Amino acid sequence: MPIATINPATGETLKTFEPLGDEEVEERLALAAAEFATYRTTGFKQRSEWMRAAADLLSSEQEDVARLMTTEMGKTLVAARAEVAKCVKGMRYYAERAEEFLADEPADAPAVGARRAYSRYQPLGPVLAVMPWNFPLWQAIRFAAPALMAGNVGLLKHASNVPQTALYLGELFARAGFPRGCFQTLLIGSDQVERVLRDRRVAAATLTGSEPAGRSVASVAGGEIKKTVLELGGSDPYVVMPSADLDAAVSTAITSRVQNNGQSCIAAKRFIVHADVHDAFAERFVARMEALRVGDPMEEGTDVGPLATEQGRDDVEMLVADAVGRGARVLCGGYIPDRPGWFYQPTVVAGVTPEMRMFSEEVFGPVAALYRVADVDEAIELANVTDFGLGANAWTTDSAEQDRFVTDLAAGAVFVNGMVTSYPELPFGGVKNSGYGRELSAHGIREFCNLKAVWIG
Ligand code: NDP
Repeated sequence: MPIATINPATGETLKTFEPLGDEEVEERLALAAAEFATYRTTGFKQRSEWMRAAADLLSSEQEDVARLMTTEMGKTLVAARAEVAKCVKGMRYYAERAEEFLADEPADAPAVGARRAYSRYQPLGPVLAVMPWNFPLWQAIRFAAPALMAGNVGLLKHASNVPQTALYLGELFARAGFPRGCFQTLLIGSDQVERVLRDRRVAAATLTGSEPAGRSVASVAGGEIKKTVLELGGSDPYVVMPSADLDAAVSTAITSRVQNNGQSCIAAKRFIVHADVHDAFAERFVARMEALRVGDPMEEGTDVGPLATEQGRDDVEMLVADAVGRGARVLCGGYIPDRPGWFYQPTVVAGVTPEMRMFSEEVFGPVAALYRVADVDEAIELANVTDFGLGANAWTTDSAEQDRFVTDLAAGAVFVNGMVTSYPELPFGGVKNSGYGRELSAHGIREFCNLKAVWIG
């Protein structure tokens, strides 16, 4: 994959970049290691000041950064602005809370025969972050803010189709006052990741992206005994039971499925609806999907922009064609609009069966699979059938059913009567093939720390 900005709304290549050579990668690794030696000794007060300055800077540049993201990967400008605001909030959250999250934890000293005993969180060193294009700012910030506040230094290998956003991030922290080696962007292809990851100076890695990319990074890291956090794909279920507020369930279903032009790991992708309300839900859901405005992501009234890459659009088209070829019914959409760029019409597919790829694979585009179930047991069984386990949505006002969903849905997050979203205050991550480890909250900042047991006699 070339490292280039290609506008997905037009297909036009706007700027290309040469990947860094071995010497340039070496310079950056050396700088990261040298910087870590001193940066790890800075206090929370200093780091907070720099992090707040970075948040202020980003906030003041919101419009430019939003336009850059829309140009590089096609999300609507409205969504891009919201992403910038979310990043600013996340940075301020860690600036404020990191010290408390990483405070020494006292232990029962007499029980271990010590005068004092406690655990201390300490940074690990340079952490490699392999990041995807779908939330080009947020995915990187959700790693960088806690990592830097913990005293780690970051090396960002961003997706090859968002190089200008990657370069912006590489400068942002230095411009805010962090020493230059604290956060660096490596413009490299995925074939150069292994070498960086095996380097002794790199302590750990985090990856957000596809399952194959996750497997590759985790196996290299495993061979080097380096910790990884993986946030991979999802095919989140969205269960609607008879007691649900149907209007709210339909509106949120639309938002969840088509947010980010359908390219979110925590988007609801499989809509599992109780037979009693299935037809009413389907009718409204299809009507609302049909009414969405597909078009130029820079225009304020656009609901759904293009997919980020031609390959991504082709993948979505193939999954729909596979389902239709095996007997699924298209209730709306199901085609590529006649215009330049990599658009795909919002689509609802019914009659999806286990032989179809869409039943078990992630559809990374604005395509919903609609299922009818007889009861809560069947809903949970179907919800848990895939190898993914990132998020799960359930709509019911019955408290016994709410308990069942919270307990039995196999996912890293269960949202009842709402949409799975990431918040700085809640842990974020998955089970099964959706990955392991957690980002965000107190748990996220501790992932790349050495929890040192201290015993003083
Ligand atoms: P990838 O997983 O290929 O890309 C994500 C990041 O991983 C990029 O930085 C990429 O670099 C890098 N990468 C890819 N392969 C390797 C590897 N073998 N070793 C090290 N790094 C690697 O995602 P795609 O863009 O190809 O999207 C494919 C599918 O992945 C989507 O359809 C979707 O299902 C899923 N996905 C999930 C995301 C999520 O949020 N969980 C985000 C993006 C995709 P480079 O760009 O240079 O290839």
